[in-house]
Order: sequence, then C-alpha cells, then structure tokens
Amino acid sequence: MTDLAVTPTVVSALNKARLLAEEDAREQIAFSAAYADNYRGPVLVVSAQRLRRNVQRFMAALPRVRPHFAVKANPDAEILSIFHQQGTCFEVASIAEIDAMLALGVDMETVFYSNPIKSSLSIKHGAASGIVWYCVDTPEEVEKIAAIKPDAKLYLRIQVSNEGSSWPLAGKFGASSKGVDALIDICKKLDMQLCGATFHVGSQCTNIHNWVEGIRAANGIFAQLIAEGFSPELLNLGGGYPLQFSGQEPSIEDIAAVINPELDLLPKSIQIMAEPGRYLVGSAGCLISQVVGIATRDSARWVYLDTGVYGGLMELSQNFPATLVSQRTGEAGVWTMAGPTCDSIDVLGKHRLPINTEADDIIFMPNLGAYCTTCACDFNGFPTPTMHMVD
Ligand SMILES: *Cc1c(COP(=O)(O)O)cnc(C)c1O
Repeated sequence: MTDLAVTPTVVSALNKARLLAEEDAREQIAFSAAYADNYRGPVLVVSAQRLRRNVQRFMAALPRVRPHFAVKANPDAEILSIFHQQGTCFEVASIAEIDAMLALGVDMETVFYSNPIKSSLSIKHGAASGIVWYCVDTPEEVEKIAAIKPDAKLYLRIQVSNEGSSWPLAGKFGASSKGVDALIDICKKLDMQLCGATFHVGSQCTNIHNWVEGIRAANGIFAQLIAEGFSPELLNLGGGYPLQFSGQEPSIEDIAAVINPELDLLPKSIQIMAEPGRYLVGSAGCLISQVVGIATRDSARWVYLDTGVYGGLMELSQNFPATLVSQRTGEAGVWTMAGPTCDSIDVLGKHRLPINTEADDIIFMPNLGAYCTTCACDFNGFPTPTMHMVD
C-alpha cells in the first residue's frame, strides 16, 4: 500500500466516506424502526429495495462480471427470489442449497457448486439436479467427481492472500502451484474438463490487491491450461466484497476501478463471474436487539443482550467490525457486550454504547443481513432472531 500524505483533501475525503457510512446506517435503522415498537424479541428486518439496489450497484460497477449470490450468506426463499428476478445467478455448497435452487426454478446449468470438498452423496444430488460446474482444489476431489459426473466442468480454486480480510478463509481451501500441477495431471489422466479458475480473498476484504493477485494468478493458469491442451473459459472472482462499517472500507466502485483494467487484459473468450454474498445482502438487513441487563464486574461495565454468539452474532465475537446504535442518546462509553446464554464463550467484545444504558434499551445493528440469522440456533432456550421483509 502506498502511504497517503494526510492533506486536507484526503482528510475531507475520509470524513465524507465516514459520513456516507453513517448515513447508510441511519437509512437501515429507518426502514427497520417500526419493529422496535411493541418489541417481542430479536428481529432481522430486511429491505427488498436495498436488496435490489445492491444488485444493481454491483452490476453497474463490474459490467463484465456476472454475479452469483453465495446462498450461504442468507438462504431465505424470498431473498433468493428477489435476486433471481434481478438477474442474479447463484453459488451453492450443500444438498439443501441445491434444493433451494430447484424450488426457485433456476436454470441449473447456471448454478455453481463452489464448495471445494463435497460428499459423494451431494455430488450425486448435484449431477441429478443438472449442475454442470464443480469446484476442485485436490486430485482426490477430481477422482470423486469423475466417478459420478464424468462430463462435469471443473474450475480449480487457487490460494491467494487473505490479508486484510475480517473473516479469512485461506488455509482450509485453495491449491498451491504444486497443487495446480497435480490437478492438471489427474484431469488429463481421467479425461476431465478443467475449464476455469477461482479464488476467495476472504470475507469482508478491504485489501483490493488480493483480487488483483488472484486475477493475475488465474491468467497464468489459463496459459498453463492451454499449453496442456485444455480450453479455459471461466474466471470466478469469488466473494469478499466488503460492507461499509467505518467508511474506510473500499466501496464496490473503488474495487471496480482497480480490477476492471485487470479484467480487460483477459482473453475475450473468458467469461467472468463473482460470488458476492455479504455485499448483496448485508446492508439490506438491520438487526434489532434489546438489553436484558447490565453489570459492573470489578471496573468493567457489561451489557447483556437478548441475542449473542448463538443467536446470530458469532462474527462479533471474532473482532468483526460492527455498528451498534442505541435508542437512548447520551455520551458514549466502552462496554463489554455479551449474549443471554449461560455459556462463557457467549461474549461479543468491546463496543461503544451510551454510558447511561439500562435494561430494556433497544439496540439497532445495521449491516447484519448476511451470516446472522443463518448462523443462529436456539441454544439454552433463547429464540433465534425472526426475519421480516419490508419494501
Ligand atoms: C462464502 C463464500 C462466498 C461469499 O463470500 P462473501 O464474503 O460473503 O462475499 C463466495 N464463494 C465461496 C466459495 C464461499 O465459500
């Protein structure tokens, strides 16, 4: 990263970005505010308008890139249906997500099965459902798919840096350059079509260079594939496009300004797609929660909410950026936040809330449309957040 000299223009640009992020949070609180009255438990309010706007903005910024929504970010049927109407395609990782695609009635040839390690049962289900494209990052996976779906189109997932991502995914998945050689060998031996490359920069990624690195690496792999007699036709840019919590995160337009010129260098025959999850659905959802109690333990001030790590706020326990807005106004102080269960891992880190916070205060959490309700369970008898769609 180049060092920016902090001139008045740079400062005012950062202030402007921060103000835009605040304005965005206010908009989300406004569309969900009605659900704070007659509060009956944690609720995720999702705006249909915002879902549509997010798709339109993504498509406008990256005109050569076809978005495939990563279903795991929020598999709600109404949300999937809105994305489908907007012309979004989909990416799946499990039998239940394949079934969601069948229920939605999408053209299964446009569905990408991007989980690098799939059970034989789920590959069979994918093949029977008409899925053509499967991700691989090990020779063992190629052998499994070859035995079930010999005419599958494979795309290989490569390792890229996840530095600068709030939720890194590197390590668990992705082939090294040696791994790529082994994948090419096995595909030749088994006569499997290796037609594309993909990578994932990590979720909520604020380091644009990770995409640049991935695109350049994929371009190198296309040359290698051609030299080995394959016909590459697809680049899948994966997910990771960030939300604006502080305003310091790059916008989708900032990312596009850097990666579009890189994409222009690819052969015209290469189709380009991406798998945004959080970006498309995150800023369309605002969680409303309530304070169940406060405590002073030695010098630390604690706030206990009615939903926590088990109730959809798992990411907050991992130092994930978050915006918490209380209905109560007043000077803010630092609180240690926790969920309502009796488990000691149900702690959400330190956050700022008014120093005069009390039990029954309502707390809004914008930007939680993704990876919230879908990760929640009712452990210890505390209900998971319900979801409501507004226009
Ligand atoms: C989770 C996931 C995504 C979506 O990631 P976001 O950070 O939500 O954009 C995309 N592709 C794959 C393969 C994933 O596992």
